[in-house]
Amino acid sequence: MAPDRLSVASACGKLLSQAGGSGPDRSAMQVFFHEAQRQHDPQHFLVAGTLRPSPEQPARIDALLAAARNLGLEVQSPGDAGMAPIAAVHSTDYLSFLQTIHERWSALSGAGPEVVPNIHPEGRSLVYPAHPAGLAGYHQADTACPIGPHTWHSAYWSAQTAIAAADAVLRGAASAYALCRPPGHHATSDRAGGFCFLSNAAIAAERCLRAGRRPAVLDIDLHHGNGTQQVFYERQDVLTVSIHADPSRFYPFFWGHAGERGAGPGHGYNLNLPLALGTGDDGFLAALAEASERIRLFGADLLVLAVGLDAFEGDPFAGLAVTTGGFGRIATACASLGLPTVLVQEGGYLSPELTRNLESFLASWLRPAPSGR
Ligand code: ZN
Repeated sequence: MAPDRLSVASACGKLLSQAGGSGPDRSAMQVFFHEAQRQHDPQHFLVAGTLRPSPEQPARIDALLAAARNLGLEVQSPGDAGMAPIAAVHSTDYLSFLQTIHERWSALSGAGPEVVPNIHPEGRSLVYPAHPAGLAGYHQADTACPIGPHTWHSAYWSAQTAIAAADAVLRGAASAYALCRPPGHHATSDRAGGFCFLSNAAIAAERCLRAGRRPAVLDIDLHHGNGTQQVFYERQDVLTVSIHADPSRFYPFFWGHAGERGAGPGHGYNLNLPLALGTGDDGFLAALAEASERIRLFGADLLVLAVGLDAFEGDPFAGLAVTTGGFGRIATACASLGLPTVLVQEGGYLSPELTRNLESFLASWLRPAPSGR
């Protein structure tokens, strides 16, 4: 980390505190969502060998929108920034796959309604497959990211939602919330996985980096943000930090362990803080304090906050035990970093409290910081 970054960051903090708070004015927030994000409606989800309805349902959108509206926040449709900001993170082959595979798959004899892989390569450095089944294995990490006729359209607009929120913050907004759905943090640069197709938080961070900022990504979803991690793993220009359920007993299993620190020039610029299953508010907040310290040390001047609400004690995934009030405390702790922030929605599944959990988070986020915090 360059010393000049630290001095710039502390100078900014001083100016902001002189302006009367511990960070930018958070009393208002732009919210972005596009109606096309409703169209993706995945059906295929395997649990212990049993086919179940996917928890990543379009109805999540209404529960999340209700929270924004209950707080009086206006919801805007994002503009279309085109493919360039998406292609800055994802490979050409992968983007072509996402756009064309459903049609190619549907032409197979006896094809099912969704693209679901039935084979995965042991390694991926050999021949790029030509057959749709081979392509599905190459570009889909698991069976929890089925591709239907509208998946690309919804994923594209989910990414545009993140881009619009990033642009709002780059224009000077203290924060902006992107209601991204489908979510993004399990998607790598060339592979879908875990309900995710385009790596929305990574796209937002790359957008901010290319605008001259020094972004950190903080992922507070229940699950490790392995896609975001992969995008920046060998780089030191974007810090990635994730707090999540211990992957030795939880999805995504193969990533998210504390020993994954980054590689090559990126060594030391990825921080994983796995938590024991069942960890509640206090344990989560303790990890968040460690995450915040690393982000301050990095000298970030902008935060991309991957907001998952599935760490909730009543979430169907039942991995951690954060309470509704706990999300408010987590928001306050994140906001105390005092950084302009792009909030990107990740997980958080249907339960009677989903709306209240986002409302608790956003209400605390928007509350002016008490003096001295
Ligand atoms: Zn999750």
